[in-house]
Amino acid sequence: MKEARNPYRDRIAALTTKHGKERAIARPLRVALGLAITVEKKIDTDLLGTFTGEIERVGTPREIAIRKARLGMKSSGLPLGLANEGSFGPHPAISWFVPSDHEMLVFIDDELDIIVVESCLSGVTNYGYQSAQSLGDLECFLRQADFPSHALVVRPNDGLRQGWVFKGVMDIDTLEEAVKRCSAASSDGLAYVGTDMRAHVNPTRRKIIRHTACRLARRLASSCPSCGIPGWGWIQSEPGLPCEACHAPTEVIQQEIFGCARCRYLEAKPRADGREYAEPGQCPYCNP
Ligand SMILES: [Zn+2]
Ligand SMILES: [Zn+2]
Repeated sequence: MKEARNPYRDRIAALTTKHGKERAIARPLRVALGLAITVEKKIDTDLLGTFTGEIERVGTPREIAIRKARLGMKSSGLPLGLANEGSFGPHPAISWFVPSDHEMLVFIDDELDIIVVESCLSGVTNYGYQSAQSLGDLECFLRQADFPSHALVVRPNDGLRQGWVFKGVMDIDTLEEAVKRCSAASSDGLAYVGTDMRAHVNPTRRKIIRHTACRLARRLASSCPSCGIPGWGWIQSEPGLPCEACHAPTEVIQQEIFGCARCRYLEAKPRADGREYAEPGQCPYCNP
């Protein structure tokens, strides 16, 4: 990896967001690259789908983020664009019971014809939901959800209904009223109360987005050793670290693969921690 000549100093990229994501994304890019952000706010990103489910999001997070970034590039006329997409659910690596926030940040450069994607999977999130008949059922949940510094969404528990979603709920009186009305309107007498994951009302999510933006900035500052295009970085981890006792390959990561945003050049690097063997306890033969 060598430092790029930094083609993004004093350039401007369009960020498509209506939920204040520039608060998390602009600074890392300005500090690391000298790249400025202009925010395309007028674009209704909800048309690409909403978190609360009124409009279904179609496509992978990567596809949605690319579509979003292109909307901002089109409306601003800029060849550089950015967009973020988050997904929330059980943590795939830790446990079904641990919620996770997977943030993806896409950067498009139409002049160099590259799409650079950076992501971050974090177990640090307030993501969650609960059904409730009244405020009294929510004591524990409100603590986990970091209410009221983080907003909530309330709707009838039996499903989505036009005009029946209370978003951005950040005070106890509004919450009580929303729970009362939604539970009364629901066939099962319950209100659905969930965390509002929109970035402008969720400081914890903004932190993860900022971390992802730092990673993206680092990647854009690194150029491909073969073609010199920016966006060089980690692509995947490969298992196969040999067992210390029998030398058979294990599922433990053996090397990290780095790749280019444009050409097919790849480099395999050994583990950063210098470990050369897996424990026999991690071996399918020694410890079946
Ligand atoms: Zn390359
Ligand atoms: Zn073994």
